[in-house]
Amino acid sequence: MANYSIWVLEYAYVPNYHVSGIIYGYHNQGYRKLPYCYVLIKGKHHAAMVDVGYNHKEFGGYLGDKFGVINWHSPSEVLKECSLRPEDIDTVFVTHAHFDHFGNVDDFPKAKFYIQEREIAKWVWAMSLPERTQWMMVAIDPGDVLRGVELAKNKRLVTVNGDLVNVLPGIDLHPAYDSHTFGSMWVEVRNDGKSTSQDTWVLAGDLIYVYENLSGSGDLVGVEKIYNPERERKISVPSKVAVKIRLAVVQKFTAWYHPKGTLKKPTIALMQEPDSDTYVSNSGLNPSCALRQIDFLPSHFLFLSLFPSFPA
Ligand SMILES: [Zn+2]
Repeated sequence: MANYSIWVLEYAYVPNYHVSGIIYGYHNQGYRKLPYCYVLIKGKHHAAMVDVGYNHKEFGGYLGDKFGVINWHSPSEVLKECSLRPEDIDTVFVTHAHFDHFGNVDDFPKAKFYIQEREIAKWVWAMSLPERTQWMMVAIDPGDVLRGVELAKNKRLVTVNGDLVNVLPGIDLHPAYDSHTFGSMWVEVRNDGKSTSQDTWVLAGDLIYVYENLSGSGDLVGVEKIYNPERERKISVPSKVAVKIRLAVVQKFTAWYHPKGTLKKPTIALMQEPDSDTYVSNSGLNPSCALRQIDFLPSHFLFLSLFPSFPA
């Protein structure tokens, strides 16, 4: 018996995102749709979110436009699909402070927010650095950091220092320092509530984008694949659109699925296998995936690292 239902909610998307932004070293391989998502975890008398997306206004709107985001919908529109209102959300786990994950705290007036202490502290630090280093801020809305500080002032921010077990029953938080960001965090849902769970779901934020990040042997970045101009010329852009799996890499899909082709309205847009037109219902993934993911995570974080060795 599962404790929680877990919903991946698409609130916007980028129609054509370069694949090399999703898979390390995969240059000149065309484009993919890039959904912008957050996750709802519902059960045990809680309604929790993993990330809150961004608000398409002011600097958030500027960043959204800059990244080519379209089809933005507010949390109230999106959560309505799950019969909830933003004010019903009591807990938010922030994977990292990029604008598309931490950019809409104002829309969740009742929630307590969890973020790694290093994440919020280091973005303050980054802002204080000289102009020549401000490339780091490419996906940060400084206003979001200020709103985070405001949350702290109002006792609605919990700064986490490393792992935190059972933050809600069966839900654990884990840091991935100096990976995608300074203090990225991923969420583990042990959905049978057991400490050695057979029903583990990993909500990875931007630490994992696509299945290739997990299952690839690494040869995507090999010399044969990248540095052959002849081959590059012959590559055709894949006609199929493969959905970027953001935020969630999951073990199984029994609870929900999304019918293909209805992404024009706010939707519960869920998982799709890479390079497939078929949305996954309860098939298509290695059943041991989630457990493998946990083993794989540390090494694969590096693949997606923006600042792998930035000095502390
Ligand atoms: Zn990010």
